[in-house]
Amino acid sequence: MKYNSTRNKSTVVSAAQAIAQGISEEGGLFVPQSLPAYSLEDIKALAAEDYRGRAKRIFADFLSDFTAEEISESVDAAYTAEKFGSDDPAPISYIESGSTKMSVLELWHGPTCAFKDMALQILPHLLTKSVKKTCSDKEAVILVATSGDTGKAALEGFRDVDGTRIMVFYPVNGVSPMQKRQMATQKGNNVSVMAIEGNFDDAQTGVKKIFTDSEIKAKLAVNDKLFSSANSINWGRLLPQVVYYFSAYCDMLNEGKIALGDRMNVVVPTGNFGNILASFYAMNMGLPINKFICASNSNNVLTDFIKTGTYDRKRTFYTTISPSMDILVSSNLERLLYHLTDGNAEKVAAWMSSLSSEGSYTVDDEVKAKLDALFYGGFCDDENTKKTISRLYKEENYLCDTHTAVAVNVYQQYVDETGDLTPAVIASTASPYKFAKSVLEAVCDDALPEDEFAMVDELSAKTGTPVPAPLAALKDAQVRFTEECSVDAMPEAVLRGLGIN
Ligand SMILES: *Cc1c(COP(=O)(O)O)cnc(C)c1O
Repeated sequence: MKYNSTRNKSTVVSAAQAIAQGISEEGGLFVPQSLPAYSLEDIKALAAEDYRGRAKRIFADFLSDFTAEEISESVDAAYTAEKFGSDDPAPISYIESGSTKMSVLELWHGPTCAFKDMALQILPHLLTKSVKKTCSDKEAVILVATSGDTGKAALEGFRDVDGTRIMVFYPVNGVSPMQKRQMATQKGNNVSVMAIEGNFDDAQTGVKKIFTDSEIKAKLAVNDKLFSSANSINWGRLLPQVVYYFSAYCDMLNEGKIALGDRMNVVVPTGNFGNILASFYAMNMGLPINKFICASNSNNVLTDFIKTGTYDRKRTFYTTISPSMDILVSSNLERLLYHLTDGNAEKVAAWMSSLSSEGSYTVDDEVKAKLDALFYGGFCDDENTKKTISRLYKEENYLCDTHTAVAVNVYQQYVDETGDLTPAVIASTASPYKFAKSVLEAVCDDALPEDEFAMVDELSAKTGTPVPAPLAALKDAQVRFTEECSVDAMPEAVLRGLGIN
């Protein structure tokens, strides 16, 4: 299996190159040249396997330059009961609310309590093997821009991994107190964390600029280092996410919730468009999916795009209670456009160039028609997010986080508008305890304590749900990183951190 760049079709790389490099030279993203096809019989066979078995089978199709042992080793090291609390890293909670039934796919049982662990527990294994295959013994410098959850998950995945260094940049006022504490207390000898004066998009643009700066890259090369990415622009982040959509279908099949061949809807709280794109790949491999329901918060650039075909980032940026979705430039949409244009790299490159110079682009009628057929876009503001958390808790006794609540709310809007009751999988992306203040405000009318950990304890006492152990442990953890810098100072900070300025 080979990979092309979304902006230049003549770029052809192996899986290992795509993962080691993260992003293509001209700024495009790597996409698979073709997709493996799964018949219903294949899906039935997957259903007989456990999560790790399903992962190995799917990985083997995409990582054709990896040996079966390398894949096995990576999967077995990543999805352990020790890290995910059980042998099933992605369990489903079934909820019935009136006439609507939801399969809530809980993707947050990993070490950092967000769905990013599903990919970032395995990426370090894939990445170090990829670097070895493609550029021998260079040190991989992982730069990460984060809206909160990726940073911590990447730090935890890469900490003390031989041959890697990781540097994380997060928006100074754009993450929850728990997310900030998770990052500031990160352990490991190869990690650093910096707050930047700006929002997530500023951080992401800053990181992309460093990646493509030829002077900086040359400096790294002479020092035997190379940049790579742990953001969802890296193919190694998306591939592990394809697995859990197949796995959810298999679990629903095994539980008798659906019959083989039945279709399902997929509802995803969306930021950078990685998670929902993984389900799009799953459908194109043969998984019976009917609709992709793309849920946004008040930063509803994707809702507008799906409705109108115009992507326009020139709009107010809101800081919301679902901060991991506070994004106006959704990087992975570029991959979707590439596939919807049947691989028209010139078109995609022109739209991306218009986005960067004009702040907007409009897709053609053909792409718009495909979007209409497959996607539904909706959004939910903070007030309705809290109402949804409260309703779900009071009526269904199910506690969810702010991001998952956005998805549940938009799913309800979808059902009200269309009457479509196809079984729906809701991607639940974080533990409610990562956003304790907002969740507590939603389920409790009393005055709240000031301290974050007092709020966590109160949420647990009030709802009778356990505090995830990794979050409880942060209370007494030592703060190691407090530095802040401007976006312009990011390149200098990186070189200084590497000791090669
Ligand atoms: C990252 C994140 C999202 C958005 O996922 P994308 O793949 O960027 O669309 C949603 N919810 C949570 C909790 C996240 O951490």
